Amino acid sequence: MSLTLFDTTLRDGTQREGVSLTAEDKARIARELDSLGIHYIEAGFPASNPKDLEFFEGFDDSSLHAKLVAFTRARRPNGRAEDDPAVTLLPSLSAPVACIVAKSWKLHVEKVLRTTPEENLESVRDTVAYLAEAGKVVIFDAEHYFDGFRDDPGYSLAVLHAAAEAGATTLVLCDTNGGTLPTELKAVVARTVREFPDVEIGIHTHNDSGCGVANALVAVEAGTTHVQGTVNGIGERCGNCDLVTTIANLQLKMGLKVMDDEELRRLTEVSNYVSELMNLTPDTHRPFVGRSAFAHKGGLHVDGISKDPATYEHVAPEAVGNVRRTPVGELSGKNSIRTKAEELGLEAGDATQILWAIKQREYEGYHYEAADASLALLIGRTMGEDRPLFELETFRIISEKRAGGETTTEATIKLFVGGHRVISTAEGNGPVNALDQALRKAIGPHYPELKEIHLSNYKVRILDEHRATAATTRVLIDSTDGKRMWGAVGVSENIIEASWQALVDGLEYGVSGTKKE
Ligand SMILES: [Zn+2]
Repeated sequence: MSLTLFDTTLRDGTQREGVSLTAEDKARIARELDSLGIHYIEAGFPASNPKDLEFFEGFDDSSLHAKLVAFTRARRPNGRAEDDPAVTLLPSLSAPVACIVAKSWKLHVEKVLRTTPEENLESVRDTVAYLAEAGKVVIFDAEHYFDGFRDDPGYSLAVLHAAAEAGATTLVLCDTNGGTLPTELKAVVARTVREFPDVEIGIHTHNDSGCGVANALVAVEAGTTHVQGTVNGIGERCGNCDLVTTIANLQLKMGLKVMDDEELRRLTEVSNYVSELMNLTPDTHRPFVGRSAFAHKGGLHVDGISKDPATYEHVAPEAVGNVRRTPVGELSGKNSIRTKAEELGLEAGDATQILWAIKQREYEGYHYEAADASLALLIGRTMGEDRPLFELETFRIISEKRAGGETTTEATIKLFVGGHRVISTAEGNGPVNALDQALRKAIGPHYPELKEIHLSNYKVRILDEHRATAATTRVLIDSTDGKRMWGAVGVSENIIEASWQALVDGLEYGVSGTKKE
């Protein structure tokens, strides 16, 4: 059986609160999805917003292996497809595939569309036929299919028949409200597949019951051969079916080959890339591709893993382009240190000395579980391998607040880099940002790779609230080059000093990491 993958990150995914993509962002994500071997890329609803229209008019899809899909709704009740601009726009675009959504639940037909069930069927026939005659491949999304089926199966099936007879090549069953559970969904899919032995049936699920991926998988078991979802499950409310997790499960667990092994190994990178472009902090605990997905912390687990990874891993991390990690914490012993050093490509040398250095730093408030960059540097430094990017002379930060105005921040930094003394000043939206800008300005010319590295997350934790202002502050900074992510930690009674330590570790590790590869 061959399965087709349909990605709607650029259409349904952008319904997520806080997400906004430019036409250029969309083009970059589309190329990334294409490189993964996705078959269909639904890139927007051009009749609904000018940004999507700009993308479809400006994007050259001729170099894509994937087919580009433009989305629209069925024509308005009592009108004609050829008079409805939301429909007639599609033939003017180069995207070869049209995805049309229409109602398949009587409640919606009567209460939302305020029309008759028969007129809704007519709208489906008219719209599908119009676009098919215009030369488009038509994929039909039956909205609220499962709720509709529960209410009146005959009507939901009649909507699908109308679309199929008018020329739709794929009938997609949508769990639009995301409330259906796998057992019921699977039965409805099986019933529908029997009804249409010669038409491709697809599945489009949402995650409101936490079953987005599970529902897509059981739908495939029940006979659908077309699966829709979004990268990282981003989408309205609780999100869509996560295509990343779904792909990994289909291929590694269910034995269905949806892409080459080489493409599958790019899953982690693509997942991070999309989070990055959407300005979303990657969920480190995401199945398969999260940074913690193969992180082993407990001593027993680390011991088991060192004997045979299958003891605590459901699949091999390399299969999806992820890596095994053994975060070093208070629970760790020498064995973890050796494993960690190996993982970082270092000789463990005197593990006792490294362990002692880690315990000392942890006593001071450092925490290395989420700070692999600082840990790698600490191990290196303990073993006499210290290659700082620069030598600091001083830095100074001035924040100024004028009554009724904004607060402005400026940082000045003096340092030595590559044998020269450099002084640089920069403004920022806060002290850490200003310091980051000034430091990059000063050392950037010596390390061009810094352009690719930026901060993706900044977290502050007060370690001992009882001591009020004397409390210790721990800062964690995540950095990324768009492909990998790494964490660095700083600790001090002064938040600026703690941030500085984490900032410098993050940049130093990023630069040495890119050199290593
Ligand atoms: Zn949806």
